[in-house]
Amino acid sequence: MPDIFCAGSVARRIFESAQKGSAFHAYLVTGPKGSGKSRFAMEAGAALLCSEKEKPCGGCASCKMAYSKHHPDFLLIAPDDAGSIRIKQVRFLLEELSRCAFYGGWRAIAIARAETMTSEAQNCLLKTLEEPPKKTCFFLLAASYEVMLPTIRSRCVHVRMEAMDEGALVQLLIKEGTDENEARQIARISGGVPGAALELLADKKGDGRLWSVRKGMLELILSFKGLPSLPAAQNHFRSIREDAEFALSCMASFCRDMLMIKAGCEALAENIDALPRLRRTSETFTKGQLGDIIDLILQAKKQLAANVNYALAVDMLFISASEVLI
Ligand SMILES: [Zn+2]
Repeated sequence: MPDIFCAGSVARRIFESAQKGSAFHAYLVTGPKGSGKSRFAMEAGAALLCSEKEKPCGGCASCKMAYSKHHPDFLLIAPDDAGSIRIKQVRFLLEELSRCAFYGGWRAIAIARAETMTSEAQNCLLKTLEEPPKKTCFFLLAASYEVMLPTIRSRCVHVRMEAMDEGALVQLLIKEGTDENEARQIARISGGVPGAALELLADKKGDGRLWSVRKGMLELILSFKGLPSLPAAQNHFRSIREDAEFALSCMASFCRDMLMIKAGCEALAENIDALPRLRRTSETFTKGQLGDIIDLILQAKKQLAANVNYALAVDMLFISASEVLI
């Protein structure tokens, strides 16, 4: 399997079994954006469909169709323009599956951002996950395990995409054209997620939008000394809506680093470049407060992933954070 995967041993085993032509009928693949979920589904799906001995060979007609997303037996579902996967999309898929496979072999289905499936859509899919057609393999890709309905979770094998080893990620970034110091910093900030690390590197070489979002979040966290100012936070988040998920990840990471500093584990900190300021600010929080704030940030991230109203999720985060800090 290519190195870029943040794949753990479960993913590796599943990939190897797909290479031998066998698969469970449904995998729930979870991990943050950029952790290689789609890539894993693509490689494992292509392996099931490939007609050559070394699967996926990348060169046979089947592989070419799969990688160009035009394989009639590799079906892809993604949220519509409004950001949801609706019941009619699932019904359409099930209708397709009621027919025979075009090439008579395996059929793979990748559902991107499966957490955006409406409850009706998830329930509609459930029956098929209980009694799947033969030689059919679903890959449900989701930000986290918890966002899916328990009934869906219980019918899938869970595949968690894991963080990449720091040394390997640093090498990957150096290959992409950066020096070791910068590579190490980016590897830490990205939490070992290669897609995120490559995006941060490209951003640094480009307009620096993500780096400025990160800087904004650092300033916001450092201004928390007393209580967070709700209007200031609201204004700030309004201006970075497109990058809100990344901003919340940065915020959680800054808080986690302060927790590490307080626990005497500074060497594990992610934001090496901001350490002196985080060290000073960490003195204004208790460990309990930082832990609670991290929980609230993760909760807000989950809400955004589940399409909860943006302004409401941001308000709740800062109102609850104020309560923690009183
Ligand atoms: Zn092939």
